[in-house]
Amino acid sequence: MDIRNMDICEIKDGVLQGKFTAIEVTTSLFEAIKEIDPKVQSYLRLCEDSALKQAEKIDKKIANKEPVGALVGVPIAIKDNICTDGISTTCASKMLEDFIPPYNATVIEKLLKEDAIIVGKTNMDEFAMGSSTENSAFQTTKNPWDLQRVPGGSSGGSAACVGAGIAPVSLGSDTGGSIRQPASFCGVVGLKPTYGLVSRFGLIAFGSSLDQIGPFSKSVKDAALTLQIIQGDDPLDSTTYKESIQTDYLSNIDSGVKGMKVGVPKEFFKEGLDEEIKQALLDSIEKLKSLGAEVEEMSLPITEEGLSAYYIISSAEASSNLARFDGIRYGYRPKDFVDVDDLIVSSRTESFGTEVKRRIMLGTYALSSGYYDAYYNRAQKLKKKIKEEFKKAFNEYDVILSPTSPTLPFKIGEKSEDPLSMYLGDIYTVNINLAGIPAISLPYAKSKDGLPIGIQILGPHFCEEKIFKAAYALEQEVKISTLAPVL
Ligand code: GLN
Repeated sequence: MDIRNMDICEIKDGVLQGKFTAIEVTTSLFEAIKEIDPKVQSYLRLCEDSALKQAEKIDKKIANKEPVGALVGVPIAIKDNICTDGISTTCASKMLEDFIPPYNATVIEKLLKEDAIIVGKTNMDEFAMGSSTENSAFQTTKNPWDLQRVPGGSSGGSAACVGAGIAPVSLGSDTGGSIRQPASFCGVVGLKPTYGLVSRFGLIAFGSSLDQIGPFSKSVKDAALTLQIIQGDDPLDSTTYKESIQTDYLSNIDSGVKGMKVGVPKEFFKEGLDEEIKQALLDSIEKLKSLGAEVEEMSLPITEEGLSAYYIISSAEASSNLARFDGIRYGYRPKDFVDVDDLIVSSRTESFGTEVKRRIMLGTYALSSGYYDAYYNRAQKLKKKIKEEFKKAFNEYDVILSPTSPTLPFKIGEKSEDPLSMYLGDIYTVNINLAGIPAISLPYAKSKDGLPIGIQILGPHFCEEKIFKAAYALEQEVKISTLAPVL
């Protein structure tokens, strides 16, 4: 069984048709992980016992001809900020090193109900703050295509394990690009759904008004199938969308892009965009045209301001969300302290990393009286404006085409001392979260050095089916190999 190159459909069809058992799938995946992950370091922890138990349960169901779920026998890796019952969930932080959630996030419940198998928890930037996974308190994940380079972030572990072929699918979270940018760096598909489509219950919050959980996969169809399962209204998350919406993304996914109107913002081609990424984007425009889409240059004059608004709003929300980690209610408790104040200060000083502290300080400052109007309020106004700009654009266009990242995967350590240049790398992703719209990153080309290049397709609120359709059409055209790299 070539588990490293199998997608969801091959696995579940194989299990259903009796070509192999769920136990065999799980065992061969763990073998591959043990061989390859010491080099990539994408997993923080494996759940071998519970995975094998779940596989056994599935095999029994099949033997007894009982009905099985849509992800039967499919192993899935989970970012370590999504709560898993009885399995530690650390956010790659010393603060939560000993935290074992007594419940599952809603997305985990949904996956288990469909007979998926949770295989492990993946590395990330601490509390999802970062773009390289270097901010993890525990280990540095490597890019599977070049072990000297970062896998992107913050969901770097979830992207790298799918890219390395040691998970067919995984979940990450995206507050300002943390699914799409690592997907682009690791040569996999990554989807950030519309805000409110997927429950955030059990996702440890970073910026609650921006966070969304989404899948990493080897193909657009797999992303669509996974979204179909994890999405939906949840009484445990009041921000989930209550109305019924189109939920079958697969039946029309191959209907093509003929007549589809595609906008390409001219602002996205400014300086700072890597030449090879630009060429890939231009090539995708020609492909879409040749498939019958109407591609047009347009203007979306908001990209740079979006970056400032994002860093103010996400840090403000983070400073509030992370206030609960004080060594009393949650989190690391220092051995010695003199009084309550000292306990709180030592807990946070000793266990949060530099980037998390930086965001808390920035957010607290932006929210403090006297500065609130100048920063937080202004950023909120900008957020509203950005949403309106996108709304206007989508009155004319079905989807918008964009780079995912302005640069190729960079070297480990190259930007870790320069937070500002790290933040600038989020220029093409953060506006999507501010507007709350969905976007997908699709592996489209390879650089001359063999590094993956992703392109991004944006759609209107709750129109995931449009971006799947466009991405699927392009995916059929691109000729880059989807085989996992030799490691
Ligand atoms: N890179 C962005 C940041 O550091 C995005 C993070 C995310 O989406 N979680 O905030």
